[in-house]
Amino acid sequence: MIHFKRTALSLFLAIIMVFQYIPANALPASYSVNVTFDINRLLTKQSIVLYIDNKKTKTLEPDAKDLKLTLSQGRHTFKFCTEKDSDISDEFTLNISGDCKYKFTVSYTGLSVISKSRLLEGNRPTTSQSSSKKSSTYNRTVPRATPTPKPTRTPTPEKKEAMVWIPTHGGKKYHSRSGCSGMKNPQKVTISEAKRQGFTPCKKCN
Ligand SMILES: [Zn+2]
Repeated sequence: MIHFKRTALSLFLAIIMVFQYIPANALPASYSVNVTFDINRLLTKQSIVLYIDNKKTKTLEPDAKDLKLTLSQGRHTFKFCTEKDSDISDEFTLNISGDCKYKFTVSYTGLSVISKSRLLEGNRPTTSQSSSKKSSTYNRTVPRATPTPKPTRTPTPEKKEAMVWIPTHGGKKYHSRSGCSGMKNPQKVTISEAKRQGFTPCKKCN
């Protein structure tokens, strides 16, 4: 069993070394990485050794809280081991692309170390640009379909002009009722004709 663990560890080291030989960017920038530890990171009062990129960096006491690191741009492996048995370990990789602040939660169950990281501040490294940007430029207002003009209703031929009654024996009023005002033999004419002849509407029947 121990052999197996050792083999696994060797394999892990080999992988790390391969990673280290991959040429990084010409002059990788260095960034400040602030780490806050979860205050309950250790279930037992156990010191934990932090390896960064497989290099022993810090022995974390159970009350460890903050750690300031300066790391170059790129991927870094964080490995947490118990102080006594480095085979009991856990690790994660962070891709550092700027000043940032992480929270590390590290716990030890007695059988294994469990470690997690959570970005508190700084830019999450991304390989692709966020596509959430709304392409407002393409959001043209769709021109409204020009409403088909309603066919102008052919005007209903004017009703026959209203007819009125005009007196033939005196009076200057036209009437809508032939029997109004006791007219005798009234003449039926169009209203415009009545007006043309100078008649005005009778107030009783109009
Ligand atoms: Zn009248």
